[in-house]
Amino acid sequence: MEDCIFCRIVARVTQASIVYSDEKALAFMDIQPVNTGHVLVIPTHHASRLAELDEETGAQMFRVAMWVAESLSLSRVKCEGVNLHLADGEAAGQEVMHVHLHIIPRFTGDGFGIRFGHHNRLKPDKKELDKVALDIRKSMS
Ligand code: 5GP
Ligand code: ZN
Repeated sequence: MEDCIFCRIVARVTQASIVYSDEKALAFMDIQPVNTGHVLVIPTHHASRLAELDEETGAQMFRVAMWVAESLSLSRVKCEGVNLHLADGEAAGQEVMHVHLHIIPRFTGDGFGIRFGHHNRLKPDKKELDKVALDIRKSMS
């Protein structure tokens, strides 16, 4: 995957400021941080989308994200809270097509936030929620 920037970081061909590394996951500083201390966790083997990622690697990525979040709160980084963010697919805002989990330190007044459109966050009735839950549940089996 020579054309994948994150694979090049895993191979140490492209430089990155590495926070943590093991067989399954790598954590490094985002080059264009939302706030100081913004870290990305990626699988060491290329997967473009979540559906291509094996579950054990996904679990390890989340474990590493938890360690990083805890370490941020103990560090000198300004960190009153943390957002974990994963964009899966272009429609969700994924720009680099190698799965990555953002760990974003947050503090009051940092100016970052998720924007809602007027059609978002409506309150569907319970019947509608049940219908959608059933639909998803069926797809899980
Ligand atoms: P996405 O929008 O796909 O969820 O996030 C991609 C992230 O990767 C962005 O926050 C961007 O700043 C970061 N990024 C893109 N290219 C590089 C790079 O070459 N090195 C590092 N460290 N981060 C990168
Ligand atoms: Zn890759």
